[in-house]
Amino acid sequence: MRAAVLHARDDLRVEAVAEPEGDRDVVVRVEAATACGTDVKMLRHGHRVLGPYPSRFGHETAGVRLDTGDRVLVGDSVACGACAPCRAGRPQICRAMTWVLGGFAEFVAAPAAALHPIADGLDFAGAAMAEPLAACVHAVARAADSAADGAAVLGGGTMGLMTARLLVLAGRSVTLADRHPERRAQAEAIGARAVASLHAGGHPLVFEAVGRPEAWRAAVEAAAPGGIVVLVGGCPSGTDVALPAGPLHYDELDVRGAFHHSPAEVDRALDLLASGAVDWRGLAGATIGLDDLAAALRRPADGEARKLVVDPRR
Ligand SMILES: [Zn+2]
Ligand SMILES: [Zn+2]
Repeated sequence: MRAAVLHARDDLRVEAVAEPEGDRDVVVRVEAATACGTDVKMLRHGHRVLGPYPSRFGHETAGVRLDTGDRVLVGDSVACGACAPCRAGRPQICRAMTWVLGGFAEFVAAPAAALHPIADGLDFAGAAMAEPLAACVHAVARAADSAADGAAVLGGGTMGLMTARLLVLAGRSVTLADRHPERRAQAEAIGARAVASLHAGGHPLVFEAVGRPEAWRAAVEAAAPGGIVVLVGGCPSGTDVALPAGPLHYDELDVRGAFHHSPAEVDRALDLLASGAVDWRGLAGATIGLDDLAAALRRPADGEARKLVVDPRR
């Protein structure tokens, strides 16, 4: 079968590799794999979950089980169930996570525990987006205790837009900030108010969805005294971020990381996509084959926020 294989930083090759076998895992024929900023990071910088090169990647994957014929989302992780975070009900920060990567290929093998059924009527490309949407479901849940009516989202990429939509569905009045007018228009279309930048000190609840040190800082600066800041976007690991000490201490800001998701959050995301509550078509970009993946991931993201859809048989 053909698969996208990373051999080193910025060295992606499409190669013929052995088809996976279903002795311990379930083999899934990939119908759609969507791409995100993490894939760009994996290509350009490597990533702590990739393992030693050569490595397969692609973690937003939907397809058909070869053993049963069922349509499934291939979840990208299985938590151990035994470590301290798992026992505390926080599987997303499991200390011994099994990562399931390799969606950018014709077939992928996955533990049965990683698979989630897809409702009839939800396309494979839409189902694949349950992975990033689940992380947004998790991020919104991290601030479920906020009494604020309003919420601000910094960043109108696909994660920011999904987070904004979930906050609208939760009944909050949402302000999304992005410097691209096309992304502000997308935010308005899903029920948010869109602005070019957030008002300093003006927001009791802020979600950062960019993943850059300057954006983390801007999110902290945008928070109102006593506010909550949820960091949804991940800076590359090893990054040091300088934050203003004044508001963190004197304004008692509550800064929270939001990473990944639980299996229940993945199922919730699939429900939201199947019902149309979150419109995946508004976030879907071009469908490409494996041969165009490297160039597409390297292309600078501009204009509307849209996710690449990879069809490995194209
Ligand atoms: Zn992703
Ligand atoms: Zn664990």
